[in-house]
Amino acid sequence: MSELVQVSNLRKSFGDNRVIDDISFTVPSGSVTVILGPSGSGKTTLLRSLNGLELPESGTVEVADASVDFSQVRPNKRGRLPKTQQASLNRLGAQSAMVFQSYNLFPNRTALENVTEGPVVVQGVSQEAARAKALDLLAKVGLADHVDKYPYQLSGGQQQRVGIARALALEPKLVLFDEPTSALDPELVGDVLRVIRDLAEEGWSMVIVTHEVKFAAQVADQVLFIDQGLIVEQGSPAQVISNPSNPRTQDFLRRIL
Ligand code: ADP
Repeated sequence: MSELVQVSNLRKSFGDNRVIDDISFTVPSGSVTVILGPSGSGKTTLLRSLNGLELPESGTVEVADASVDFSQVRPNKRGRLPKTQQASLNRLGAQSAMVFQSYNLFPNRTALENVTEGPVVVQGVSQEAARAKALDLLAKVGLADHVDKYPYQLSGGQQQRVGIARALALEPKLVLFDEPTSALDPELVGDVLRVIRDLAEEGWSMVIVTHEVKFAAQVADQVLFIDQGLIVEQGSPAQVISNPSNPRTQDFLRRIL
């Protein structure tokens, strides 16, 4: 399997707070990487660095044929990036699509409109083609009967499934999930995890931040356990989840399981 993602020596601080401390890893094409770790350990910041939503101080991120050396990315005094740097960040961002914890749907658009928006506005796909694809994707996530509903008419789990369909509509090389079920009532979690599991079986490349350890054990090819901005343990679920060697991983799993 070739590497789809290569992260090298990533570092990111907020003020004096070093949130990511020299992180490197790869994600083979068609595989699922799950990032586990305590709250505040830097998981979301790492995930957002993969598509340029965060700007690390140094390190490189390569996704498919886009590559950004963050030590070369420096906003000017007005917080703007020079054009070439912005273009390379945009290219990085275009390789992936993110599914957010809080869904981030447009509240005044239907499920269908939420899914067609990106392809039409960002990628210049025709309304007709975007609509056909969106209907397929909404059916795939179990929402064929809800395409004309607005987010407020949908449960949290249904909204998140619209969020997943919206991400897939962009045909990203990589799908990023930021705690996709942590805002959901417990009875709605299963449907969302089932959809993500189906995507894994279809061979989508995914990086998932989650606290759902049992789900991680089922779906992950690789697990990264992060603590205080460092990867303290990395390997298959059988290694990291079932048989962790690092005391910090052991302690985390004992508390969460
Ligand atoms: P996790 O996803 O593991 O809970 P985060 O990546 O969200 O961790 O946060 C890691 C640390 O970075 C926390 O201490 C958090 O308060 C801090 N942090 C995250 N985003 C910002 C920000 N925009 N400004 C300042 N500090 C932040």
